[in-house]
Amino acid sequence: MASALVFRLPERGPELLREVLLERGWEDYEAGRRDREDWNLYWRTTRFCNSEYQNLMPWQRLNHHPKTAEITRKDCLARNLTRMRATFGASVYNFSPTTFILPNNYIRFLAEYNKLRVSKGLSAYWICKPVDLSRGRGIFIFEDIKSLVYDCTVIVQRYISNPLLISGYKFDLRIYVCVKSFNPLTVYVHQEGLVRFATEKYRLSSLRNLYAHLTNTSINKFGPFYKTEKESVGQGCKWTMSKFRHFLYGQDVNELLLWQRINNIVTLTLLTIAPSVPPSPNCVELFGFDILIDGRFKPWLLEVNYSPALTLDCQADIAVKKGLVSDLIDLMNYTWVDGLRERAYRRKGYKAPSSDAVKPSYVSVPALPTLKDPKIGEKKPHVPKLPSLKSQAEKGQRKLGPLAFVSGPLPPVDLNKMFSTSVVTATNTQSVDPIYSQHSRTKASTANRQMRPTLAPRLTDNRSRHVSEVTNHDDAETRAQREHLAEADISSSTPDIPPRGLGFKPSTVSWKLPHIHRTASKKTRGHIPPARVGDFIRTFPFNKATLKASQHTLDVRTVIQEVNKLTAHFSSGRRRPDKKKREEEEVKNAEEEEEEEEEDFDSLFWGPKDPPQIRLLLQNHQG
Ligand code: ADP
Repeated sequence: MASALVFRLPERGPELLREVLLERGWEDYEAGRRDREDWNLYWRTTRFCNSEYQNLMPWQRLNHHPKTAEITRKDCLARNLTRMRATFGASVYNFSPTTFILPNNYIRFLAEYNKLRVSKGLSAYWICKPVDLSRGRGIFIFEDIKSLVYDCTVIVQRYISNPLLISGYKFDLRIYVCVKSFNPLTVYVHQEGLVRFATEKYRLSSLRNLYAHLTNTSINKFGPFYKTEKESVGQGCKWTMSKFRHFLYGQDVNELLLWQRINNIVTLTLLTIAPSVPPSPNCVELFGFDILIDGRFKPWLLEVNYSPALTLDCQADIAVKKGLVSDLIDLMNYTWVDGLRERAYRRKGYKAPSSDAVKPSYVSVPALPTLKDPKIGEKKPHVPKLPSLKSQAEKGQRKLGPLAFVSGPLPPVDLNKMFSTSVVTATNTQSVDPIYSQHSRTKASTANRQMRPTLAPRLTDNRSRHVSEVTNHDDAETRAQREHLAEADISSSTPDIPPRGLGFKPSTVSWKLPHIHRTASKKTRGHIPPARVGDFIRTFPFNKATLKASQHTLDVRTVIQEVNKLTAHFSSGRRRPDKKKREEEEVKNAEEEEEEEEEDFDSLFWGPKDPPQIRLLLQNHQG
């Protein structure tokens, strides 16, 4: 039987995650006296530094990809979206309100401010946000430039002054996005999310009333009407996404187009950094995309959070976040490869470290195979004695990282198993006891959601709420951001989006590591990640063309074309092509269908309650 997996979580780390992992039989790294490398998952709300990525062991995973601050810092996001707009056109990158970074762009902002005043003669509203803060801190809305006062780097953004309201209340959507890999780009969006309401009615005449204009829970839970029963909204300030879908049914809206536009925002935003994120197969990341819908049902991107809060403040949080975390663990697809950690120690007679618990003793870990190693077939390989860290240090050599091992002889590892498909099936779930335990939601139908065990009381008590309330930009994160900026400085030579065909090449370093996420389709050599894992729906790649465009080098232009094509289907409404054209299309569709069936490529459409297959949806939509 596989051994328990080990998670590493800082004391203030999300209590909910700890709870879910313990329920699944994982062990807490902090609870035992473990060796420094003796863990499978390290989850932090702060960033990791370069050396932590470089020294990862094959069985270890981190919950952040490198360099993602390029979309999670407000100023970086603005800069990157501006660059993409210049390259691919304002008609594609049209989902972010006009933004200026001050003080640098002050002159440009002034020009735009004056232009709007003079040409439109209307009031234009602006929102000012410190780049380094989160949870609504330091934000204010203004109409007159005289009110613009700041003492740190801020962004000033066009204020969406006509938001969609529900019974007079403003709201935004928190969409949970998991980037399983940037290389190749593999994105999942969770079916459940949160709708976050302001707690006072929206009025442009009271710009200073943050309870009416900001939808942050951290602000509204201190508002005078938080606990009041509010028309339609109810008590508190959150709905689940399911409830929002229900609300949409009653509206005269092209719902599919709305979801598709939100999908586009996620994909197009991730495309801004995907080519420049170094390959990091052992990383996964959960982002929180904040989307505001305006009165014409157009969604706008407000920001991307890199450590979306996993605290449980209310019923909606409980309904959404436990399933989310559970699905995320399923999505990571832990397999027996991850058990190599324990096995490696056991084979070398690993003993619990003595009083010197932090002393690194991972030198006893046997080498893991590379794809190219000629000795893979050997039955009884010799496990080498590796030099101790101390002796390495004594010789003045570099610290041993995982790559120090890859050239040695091999332990008995069956590569066929190691690189077998990761599509979650009943077969592979059986071999991974601690992961796909009775608490795994992958095997359960979505309808079983209500059956989930209720949360332990400590998750909802005040104490745990406080300790785990860490979001992307709290004090700890601000520190981390500074660290990240140092990291970003070092790598400021990271290429921008390369011209078509000049993609980012995976470094040889990463390819030497056994790729624990690698999957292989039965019939193709291509990598087709599962269409759905729990409530996570794969939104990228979504068809063969995007699959092809994201393998090896990311062909951003082709991806954008495919995104546009799909959107065109939904925005054009029902079309009735002439007879000849229809016949031609039918033949083409049949051919494509055959081909697709052959390749076993199914994609679901994220958004509607029961996500339909994209292919069927398009057929129906065309009439
Ligand atoms: P923070 O990181 O501090 O939460 P956000 O950018 O998410 O900063 O903004 C906080 C809130 O302010 C949002 O949840 C939204 O309600 C409101 N808001 C932000 N930007 C805009 C905008 N451009 N137009 C309208 N409302 C906005």
